Amino acid sequence: MSLKVTMLGTGVGVPQPGRSQAAVLVENDQTLLLDCGAGTLLRLDEVGVDLEALDTVVLTHLHLDHVSDLLALANARYLADMPGLQIFGPQGTEVYFRIAKSVYPNLEKMTVAVQELKPMDSFTLKGFDIFAEEARHSVTALAYRLEAEEKVVVYSGDTEPCPRVAALAKEADLLIHECSFPEPFDVTNHTTPKKLGSMIKNLGVKRVVLTHLYPQAQGCEDEMAEQVIELSGAPTIVGWDMMSVVI
Ligand SMILES: [Zn+2]
Ligand SMILES: [Zn+2]
Repeated sequence: MSLKVTMLGTGVGVPQPGRSQAAVLVENDQTLLLDCGAGTLLRLDEVGVDLEALDTVVLTHLHLDHVSDLLALANARYLADMPGLQIFGPQGTEVYFRIAKSVYPNLEKMTVAVQELKPMDSFTLKGFDIFAEEARHSVTALAYRLEAEEKVVVYSGDTEPCPRVAALAKEADLLIHECSFPEPFDVTNHTTPKKLGSMIKNLGVKRVVLTHLYPQAQGCEDEMAEQVIELSGAPTIVGWDMMSVVI
């Protein structure tokens, strides 16, 4: 059986045409959502996902472009009389929901579980063996390696290239890595194509999809993918909203 990965949102906190905020849908015979930025609810509907099946969300970090639609998704299920969401996320996720509950008391019914994860936690969820690792970002952030059907999907969340995420990506069938800015931007906490290409060189990554693009990347998409390929040799494309990859 194959895994289907759909880039629901490939954008960031700055609005731009065609790219809603961060979200990735991973499906085997079950459905798992990674991040839930603004626009995700609409994208889920556009790709025809049954909300009934979508009961679990794993967050990389709590920046708004990764969580803005989370309460909206929980509310949509609540309004449709579905059981609450289970939510996994990094340190801070429990406080986030505790504060939200003080504003939205019925959030109690919208969520069945909120669980915090630490780097190097491993667990099984919805048919996936998942390993969490520390990303290098401006706030506490996790990257994830998901294994199912003898396939490996790695999602970086927001990060600058770092050894831990590199180790996580080793021999992945699909690496979904953020590539926020084109060259020659000099950024911390995020990734540019040449740094990513250098990082994944010799890692045996079979396929790369770039995501989390800032508006500055508009018009540079092909060049960004080529720069990653040139340095890493790994087949690389720039992700677009609602693009699916089957591995
Ligand atoms: Zn972020
Ligand atoms: Zn972000």
